[in-house]
Amino acid sequence: MIITKQKDLKDILKYLGAAKKIFIIGCGECSTTCKTGGVEDIKKMKELLEKEGKAVTGYSVPNAPCVAAQVKIEIAKNRKAIESSDAILVLACGLGIQSVKENLRFDKEIHVGCDTLFMGEMDSKGEFLERCSACGECVLELTGLICPITRCPKALLIGPCGGQNKGKCEVDSQRDCIWILIYNELKKKNKLHLLKEFKSPKDYSKTTKPHQRVV
Ligand code: SF4
Ligand code: SF4
Repeated sequence: MIITKQKDLKDILKYLGAAKKIFIIGCGECSTTCKTGGVEDIKKMKELLEKEGKAVTGYSVPNAPCVAAQVKIEIAKNRKAIESSDAILVLACGLGIQSVKENLRFDKEIHVGCDTLFMGEMDSKGEFLERCSACGECVLELTGLICPITRCPKALLIGPCGGQNKGKCEVDSQRDCIWILIYNELKKKNKLHLLKEFKSPKDYSKTTKPHQRVV
């Protein structure tokens, strides 16, 4: 899931500027789970904007605004309301925002309502955890299914740095050094031999952006 947080209202108002009539597009998946762009979040945003003298002409919550087919259908369904608005405010991740831009077939100002933070999983307490950075060459098979690229602040691939102190990370002493966790996990699974399989440096050319893949 893509983790987002809503921007401060003062920033959103600054972006909207003189625009009076606003149409809001949210996201029925990740931003709903993050409570940044679901129906309830949009209703709260509507109230806030109305207190500031704006009029919300309508809203739409595509299941996944990052999917062209879905966002196109929602835009078509709401075309009149959108055309009558001065601007669109998108409460979704950077993918959703750009997808709205790329799939809107008429000219309308689009503004950003959320900051996109990271790809995350949600634990049973509802906390979002960053566990993958989409590096394009997964090493989890060798690391006990614990990602050093994402969870070591230095993204080290060959073991702990010299700053590791009694199992804690030198960058944040509240956190375990991820390489100690990896070592313990491999030891538990009787797979310590995997540590010797890191032979060549990681091929960071596989992270060259932008990625593109057709399904
Ligand atoms: S190694 Fe880490 S960052 Fe790369 S794909 Fe696997 S989990 Fe994601
Ligand atoms: S102490 Fe461990 S987790 Fe922290 S930066 Fe060094 S290797 Fe990475």
